[in-house]
Amino acid sequence: MSKKIFRSILAVAAAVLLANLVIILGCLYRYFGDVQANQLKDELRLAAYAVEANGLAYLEKLTGHDSRYTWMPEYRLTWIAADGTVLFDTNESAKDMVNHGDRLEVQEALSAGESSSVRYSDTWARRTLYYARALDDGTVLRISIRQATAPALALAMLWPILLIGIFAALLSSVLASRMAKRIVQPLNALNLDHPLENDAYEELYPLLRRIQQQRGQINAQVQELRTRADEFEQIIGSMNEGLIVLDQKGTIICINPAAQRLFGTDRSCVRKDFLTVDRSHEMSQAILTALENGRSETRTERNGRKIQFDISRIESDSTVIGTVLLAFDVTEQAFAERARREFTANVSHELKTPLQSIMGSAELLENGLVRPEDVPQFTGTIRKESARLVALVDDIIHLSQLDEGIAPERAAVDLLETAEDAASVLRNYAWERGIHISVTGDHVQVDGVRGFLHEMIYNLCENAIKYNVDEGSVEIAVSIGKQGPEVTVKDTGIGIPPEYQSRVFERFFRVDKSRSKASGGTGLGLSIAKHIAQYHNAKIMLQSEMGVGTAVTVTFAAGH
Ligand code: ADP
Repeated sequence: MSKKIFRSILAVAAAVLLANLVIILGCLYRYFGDVQANQLKDELRLAAYAVEANGLAYLEKLTGHDSRYTWMPEYRLTWIAADGTVLFDTNESAKDMVNHGDRLEVQEALSAGESSSVRYSDTWARRTLYYARALDDGTVLRISIRQATAPALALAMLWPILLIGIFAALLSSVLASRMAKRIVQPLNALNLDHPLENDAYEELYPLLRRIQQQRGQINAQVQELRTRADEFEQIIGSMNEGLIVLDQKGTIICINPAAQRLFGTDRSCVRKDFLTVDRSHEMSQAILTALENGRSETRTERNGRKIQFDISRIESDSTVIGTVLLAFDVTEQAFAERARREFTANVSHELKTPLQSIMGSAELLENGLVRPEDVPQFTGTIRKESARLVALVDDIIHLSQLDEGIAPERAAVDLLETAEDAASVLRNYAWERGIHISVTGDHVQVDGVRGFLHEMIYNLCENAIKYNVDEGSVEIAVSIGKQGPEVTVKDTGIGIPPEYQSRVFERFFRVDKSRSKASGGTGLGLSIAKHIAQYHNAKIMLQSEMGVGTAVTVTFAAGH
């Protein structure tokens, strides 16, 4: 800016100087021209009187050596007859001079009495100024002077003008530089953080006010952007799903903590290529597909968990600006899908076996291939298998109800009463095998569904009888433990091998299939018990020792 001001001042100074020179020179030239013209006129008038009075004698005296008559040599006087013949000339011999009848000033003087004219030399470097006057005797007296023309004068003064110009240029450079600095200095010293506190040029105040206003707006916008960025950070920070934003070249723009954990990286990967955190071919391919088609998804396994990546293209004004990757942990979902498939296969298998047995027996009976004394055995098989089918279907219906989360009304349930009810239903069954059932403890109440809790204790108690030894015992104890209300069903049965203890709660899992089937088991009892416990926010735990017995404890949350 200071350079521009410097140049402008210099240009103005140069222009002013030039204009001044031209005007002053022009005025001087004109002034002295006028002075000279008047002098010329006066000289002509005086000479005219003298010539009229003394004729040629006066003129000859002028050029003679008489000191009383001094004639300025720059003036030229010519006396011309009415026919144009030159009678006398101060500079040349009249005889040698051509007829002057065609000269404009002579012609005009003859017709108007007085005249003037100017003639330029061939080079236009000089001009001659003529004044002519008609005398009484009809002759014309003419005076002339040779002058330099204005351009010639200027050319002649070129050196002085140049010297003045250089001096003026130097002076104005120094002054312009100082002025430029002085003008710019307050501008450089402006404090734009507090625009209105500046003591600068008055003309700057509208601009400073505007800057102040805009600073306010910018601050507000920056604040809003910060708030939004914070909100965004908090949202993506609290997300369980991993989120990564890439630009169109695959550079990481943002990655949330969940995604950092997933890829085993930290914030330092921001601004780096996504390949630095994941080099898998499937992922690169999925990103390319999303860039081409708008969307893609892929599933991979990370840290033993199944992760699904949903990748979407981001566009702005129809231009692709990147991709966003969302990572979901679908381990449970995948597990549930597998469990459902296995369950369907198991159910089909479990249904098929008794049905085949029923159909086989029925066919034999129908074809009369069974001896009359064996008929009760076959019909017994049909009834037993049908009963198993009914039990199985009942259990499946029950499980599916629990899966669906169908919630009957809850109420305060007395665990001891419920346990006594379940035990009393099973007492006959236990008595058949000489097994003794005891129910002990306190009247502990929990908030729950009585029917469900009855079934849970019933299933545990039934297993305790089913997998017991003859003459064994089953103890059902209700108490308030350290963590909350507890029900424990303990038997003196065959026990469960340690490697199967965690699996007995799986649907259709049995340690000894034939024993379970022989006793009408469906493989769903413990699974239903676990579901019911979970439904009541209770934990179910199993302790078992081979040949000693098994104890299953259901612990409810305190204050339940
Ligand atoms: P089931 O209808 O076969 O009894 P459950 O789901 O109730 O099915 O039990 C799964 C398996 O766990 C049983 O088949 C059995 O092998 C084992 N089991 C359950 N309870 C006991 C127990 N009290 N003692 C020994 N084994 C048991």
